[in-house]
Amino acid sequence: MPSERRPAIVAVDDEPAVLGAVARDLRRGFGERYRILRAASGPEALELLTELRTRGDQAAMLIADQRMPGMSGTDYLVKARTLVPDAKRVLLTAYADTEAAIAAINDVALDYYLLKPWDPPEEELYPVVEDLLSTWEAGASLEAGGVRIVGHRFSRDSHDLRDFLARNRVPATWLDVERDGEARELLTVAGVAEDRLPVVLLEDGSVLERPTVLELAERLGVAGQPAQDHYDLVIVGGGPAGLAAAVYGASEGLRTVMVEREAPGGQAGQSSRIENYLGFPTGLSGSDLARRATDQARRLGAELLTIQDAVGLRAEGSGRIVELSGGGELSANCVLVASGVSYRQLDAPGFAELTGAGIYYGAALAEARSCSDQHVVIIGGANSAGQAAVHFSGYAEQVTMLVRGPGLERSMSHYLIAQIADLPNVTVETESCAVGAEGEDGHLRRLKVRGRDGTESTLDADACFVFIGASPRTSWLEGVVERDERGFILAGPEVQGNGWPLKRDPYPLETSVPGIFVAGDVRARSIKRVASAVGEGSMAVSLIHEYLAQS
Ligand SMILES: Cc1cc2nc3c(=O)[nH]c(=O)nc-3n(C[C@H](O)[C@H](O)[C@H](O)COP(=O)(O)OP(=O)(O)OC[C@H]3O[C@@H](n4cnc5c(N)ncnc54)[C@H](O)[C@@H]3O)c2cc1C
Repeated sequence: MPSERRPAIVAVDDEPAVLGAVARDLRRGFGERYRILRAASGPEALELLTELRTRGDQAAMLIADQRMPGMSGTDYLVKARTLVPDAKRVLLTAYADTEAAIAAINDVALDYYLLKPWDPPEEELYPVVEDLLSTWEAGASLEAGGVRIVGHRFSRDSHDLRDFLARNRVPATWLDVERDGEARELLTVAGVAEDRLPVVLLEDGSVLERPTVLELAERLGVAGQPAQDHYDLVIVGGGPAGLAAAVYGASEGLRTVMVEREAPGGQAGQSSRIENYLGFPTGLSGSDLARRATDQARRLGAELLTIQDAVGLRAEGSGRIVELSGGGELSANCVLVASGVSYRQLDAPGFAELTGAGIYYGAALAEARSCSDQHVVIIGGANSAGQAAVHFSGYAEQVTMLVRGPGLERSMSHYLIAQIADLPNVTVETESCAVGAEGEDGHLRRLKVRGRDGTESTLDADACFVFIGASPRTSWLEGVVERDERGFILAGPEVQGNGWPLKRDPYPLETSVPGIFVAGDVRARSIKRVASAVGEGSMAVSLIHEYLAQS
């Protein structure tokens, strides 16, 4: 039912005819679910957004004409971003302004540029807007969903549960017991003592005190159970490589199941904005990519089992058996190992104790909102650290990057370096490394930093995100498939004469055990990119067809 609390789409144009047309078309397509608000200039629209924010109303999308006197569309969107960072941003441009629109993608973190005129709207306007709104809705419902979780912000258990819910896209509302009055009321009503936190209140009214991630996953039905006794293909790992294999395997008629330890999306799922994946000129967030790929794999018939670890693998005749952490097994004709890499932990005093309580590995995107008005430190100088700096700069008061090398040029893409240079609240400290972390009341307060002259100083920090490289976790494959000295799995020509048992040559992504394939970051000498992982995942399926046909 339409209500005054419907989220808003705000359209801005100084030309009354264009503004009227865009508002009319938006109302026709989306008026049931959204309020369509209009403004004749950037400053007027910014006032409107401030009012919305004051009233606690949501803005889902901003559409602005690029050519407006006084304040251009891009200038307006840059300012609007600080008021409503989550709203989707669309620029209306004439064909002649396409260059300006492309240039604006970085400045504005633009989600789309729409060419005028957009006739017919059924083809040129509605599909784009619908797609952007469904992405926005998925994010908005995630943060105001039916599952409520009450805990201390700097508790590792609370963090793990929130991270699990966010990464598995379970709509949930987070209530910090120290900041949200509602949290204490809920605890009183549920009769839960404060020393039993974190508490999860499910939509059916049940209350889980200090649940483990697995218990919560089972109660929510997220984990899944295998539906078959035997599969053509078991995929270990649900990052881009595993998801691509699930999509191609299922769509090409293979009985396919994918096992994922944490949440579909893998490392890419933690990326705040992937800008170099082909076909997405305005970039897309990792969680959006994961959501799309997971839906696609499921729709095509792949089974997904999450919160389950593959802990063993063996060959039995022509069968390949994957052992799962809960004690179950999956039997298949072929296995694809696509288990990627995991963040390396920083080995300095205080880091282990404060992990989850102010120190996080990876972007921990669920934490971004809690970082408003805070000092965030990012350790690392590669692309993942750069993306995190750009992302957190939209929430935190100040972001400091600690970079071990003399600069970012050697480790980070040019486009990210340029974005960071333009952000007034991001400082890059080169030739600096964190050598210790100290907390108070159980959460991070400051870091000890060693600077370029070897002297140590103290840096106050509310949160610290660590990106210092990654390594494969393949010890469960010890003695099963050949790996290199760092644990990456060998494949194709590398296993010939190195444990390969057959007369025929191994297929390019085949490991030293026939019928066990490898794809993505976990493969020795792979290119660590989303596109290459996706490419290898899809290529593996084609090689698996060849394997099945000859065996
Ligand atoms: C923050 C960040 C930003 C990035 N940005 C970009 C970018 O902009 N562009 C780009 O091209 N690349 C980017 N990358 C790199 C890119 O994400 C990776 O190259 C890509 O995700 C590799 O895909 P994968 O499927 O091989 O492995 P992963 O993404 O690592 O996925 C592996 C999955 O396997 C699961 N798993 C591991 N072991 C097991 C087990 N035993 N049982 C069950 N499941 C298991 C893991 O939980 C994980 O979900 C980024 C990486 C990070 C961390």
